[in-house]
Amino acid sequence: MHVLIVEDDPALGHFLGQGLMLDGHEVALVTDGEGALASAAKLRPELMILDLGLPRMDGMEVLAAMGERYRSTSVLVLTGRAEMEERVKCLELGADDVVLKPFSFHELRARLNALGRRRSQFDDTVLRFGELEMDGATHTVTQAGSEVDLTATEFSLLESLLRRQGERVCSRTELMNEVWRTPEGMGTNIVDVYVNYLRKKLGKTLGRGLGAMRAQGPCVIR
Ligand code: CA
Repeated sequence: MHVLIVEDDPALGHFLGQGLMLDGHEVALVTDGEGALASAAKLRPELMILDLGLPRMDGMEVLAAMGERYRSTSVLVLTGRAEMEERVKCLELGADDVVLKPFSFHELRARLNALGRRRSQFDDTVLRFGELEMDGATHTVTQAGSEVDLTATEFSLLESLLRRQGERVCSRTELMNEVWRTPEGMGTNIVDVYVNYLRKKLGKTLGRGLGAMRAQGPCVIR
């Protein structure tokens, strides 16, 4: 896995980095919270090991700032503080696991492997939204288990929308470029036409989301 270690204690950071590299992981190390966010955006690591006590931005602030945008990164928090409240807060902010310092490398490795197994159950070629499931490998879409017949363009538009879950907005122009691969500046009415087709076919799951596109849709089209 690609692992980003965020640890301001140089000895511990080095120790973790060495151990994980020997286990075959690709490792990057940063020593403060701002660096953590910058590297998460740049490297999109599969896993982040995040110390809570950090200079500039602490680990809790990093978790809060990561929010929904980095759902593809699993986060394992390291903390010297044992309070249950804090552990719960980390998990609520999106951490996948919390490990108390001091810990043994064996324990950390076991937790990492467990996160890796959990990740592999979510093959990213399968996209989900509500009852909807899109399998990129077989090129099929099912809604509550029954297959939905979509044209190639509808499939492609739906894929773009599902991949943008968690983003606040996307523009019609962006969708035009992704789905129709047309130069910018062309009319974008076709996006609305195809959103309407999808809404008709997927009304049960996406009707309100795609229709209002503001509340709980895969994303907002503007
Ligand atoms: Ca620290």
